[in-house]
Amino acid sequence: MTLRTIDSLGPLAGKRVVVRCDLNVPLRDGVITDDGRVRASVPTLTTLVAQGARVIVVSHLGRPDGAPDAKYSLAPVAAKLGELLDRSVGFAADTVGSDAAAKVAALGDGEVLVLENLRFNAGETSKNEAERTAFAGELAEFADAVVSDGFGVVHRKQASVYELEQLRPSAAGLLIAAELDVLDRLTENPERPYAVVLGGSKVSDKLGVIAHLLPRVDALLIGGGMLFTFLAATGHKVGSSLLESDQIETVQGYLTEAAERGVDIVLPTDVVVAASFSADADHVVAAADSIEATPFGASGLGLDIGPETATAFADRIRGSKTVFWNGPMGVFELAPFAAGTRVVAEALTEVDGLSVVGGGDSAAAVRQLGFEDDQFGHISTGGGASLEFLEGKKLPGLEVLGWQ
Ligand code: ADP
Ligand code: MG
Repeated sequence: MTLRTIDSLGPLAGKRVVVRCDLNVPLRDGVITDDGRVRASVPTLTTLVAQGARVIVVSHLGRPDGAPDAKYSLAPVAAKLGELLDRSVGFAADTVGSDAAAKVAALGDGEVLVLENLRFNAGETSKNEAERTAFAGELAEFADAVVSDGFGVVHRKQASVYELEQLRPSAAGLLIAAELDVLDRLTENPERPYAVVLGGSKVSDKLGVIAHLLPRVDALLIGGGMLFTFLAATGHKVGSSLLESDQIETVQGYLTEAAERGVDIVLPTDVVVAASFSADADHVVAAADSIEATPFGASGLGLDIGPETATAFADRIRGSKTVFWNGPMGVFELAPFAAGTRVVAEALTEVDGLSVVGGGDSAAAVRQLGFEDDQFGHISTGGGASLEFLEGKKLPGLEVLGWQ
């Protein structure tokens, strides 16, 4: 693996270092519900502080529309970072405006400043390269060097991830290096049996990864929202569950290819079907081929894998030497539909080998269900990024750091 490291930037004492972190944490009423991404950014920041750099942290949070929106302010994240670093962390009320400029200018050696949400600026995610470059140029005004450490966004061609890194000497932070180490172990000669567990709701995003994984894995376990497209592809009705009808043919192709390659695609045999999408909805366990045979008929919603499926998945996971899991098995945010995710998470903690959890919601799920990070081999901070890496795609945010 070739990736420019922080050392390559030379002595950083007194230098202004802009660090692109991924501090996109889930918030409820302004309170951080999972601070995993903030914690993951600490090692790089501590290293830079110890060297006496003037550390300027930038990140996005949520999907504001290219303009300030108080609900997506990074202020609570800056406060959390101060707690975790055990030092005072400054906060600028804008990203490249007068407050940021004044606070950057006043920054002392070894001090840390967080700038307001990158995505309050349309240039950050613009499709127009010139607009991105212009915004990156404004950020570069604050930087003698750039450290890129937002692993969750390296698959995005965005101003702070791609253009900024080309305007100043730049290197990867410790989080990106650690993430790539683990992903390398998943792609280069993984120990077998190798199982990948897929779920969640970004169905079409995740279907793409399957084509690339089929030649590499021994088993693919399908839960979460995408299971219904698989059930439909095998001729079953799925009520009002999440379904990507236009992907059914693609999925049928995967099933055929898997059979030819001797890869097991393990589909649920039972599903938890609910009358509606809410925590107090009536719900029953139905066989996967009879989802519409419940009292809710065609309006029933599959919101979790059933207990028989969860047990079968858990057995398969425990019997594997390498396991990668992305996407909750059900709507774990609602207690009645969290059981499948809990059983799968439990099984991952018992793997005698490498177990990796990837994905923002998957990571939040295991923590919310009471598991500790160190019960897993690795919890990745990036869902989309890790999937695209496993797909073998070239990731723009890594290419600019010298990755090949
Ligand atoms: P990750 O962030 O881990 O990559 P996704 O963003 O793809 O995962 O999906 C997470 C979401 O998927 C969760 O909010 C969960 O409620 C939802 N989900 C899981 N199973 C289902 C289902 N059967 N129907 C609808 N949503 C589901
Ligand atoms: Mg998600």
